[in-house]
Formats: sequence, C-alpha cells, structure tokens
Amino acid sequence: MRFKGLIRCSECLKNYKVKMYRDKVKYACGGRCNYGKDFCSNNPISEKELDFYVDMRYEKQLSAEELNEEIDEIVMYLDKFEIRYKDGHVQSYNQSVINF
Ligand SMILES: [Zn+2]
Repeated sequence: MRFKGLIRCSECLKNYKVKMYRDKVKYACGGRCNYGKDFCSNNPISEKELDFYVDMRYEKQLSAEELNEEIDEIVMYLDKFEIRYKDGHVQSYNQSVINF
C-alpha cells in the first residue's frame, strides 16, 4: 500500500483508495467506490503495475516514505495514467493489458 494518498482520479477528482482483490492490492477511484459506476467509470490499477514502472526508474523498490518524497502525484485517466515526479519528470503509460 505504498502508493496510498498519491493517486488521483482525473474524472471525478477524488483520491484513489486501497482495495483488496483476493490477495492483490489494487487502488480504485474513491468516487466510483462510494457512488458507483454512473458517478465515475475510471478503472482500478494494481499495486504491482505501479511498482513495475516506478521500480524501473529507480532500479529498486522505494519505501512508502521515499515514494512520498519522489512522487508528486499519480493521475489516472480513462485510458492511461501519469506518474508525476517532484523533479518534473512525467511518465505516461497506457493502462496495461498485462495482468499484473
Ligand atoms: Zn473517479
């Protein structure tokens, strides 16, 4: 749950919150969780997928504390997401078809 508090929905502007799907940690739009799919149809993202892209940049796994120091916010769009780092670097990815 290292990304808690860092992920924002571009559609309804709510924060993403932690959701467990069996043994997998995912993050889901708080608006969609609270008010349903008609309110916001943005998709969840798995922690593993975020780990994959962030670890690729740093070539190691950062702690929750380090992530908070490095990442400004992660913005979820309907078809992609952006990891915005505090140093100004932005990584943009299509939502993966790989099952993380
Ligand atoms: Zn939303």
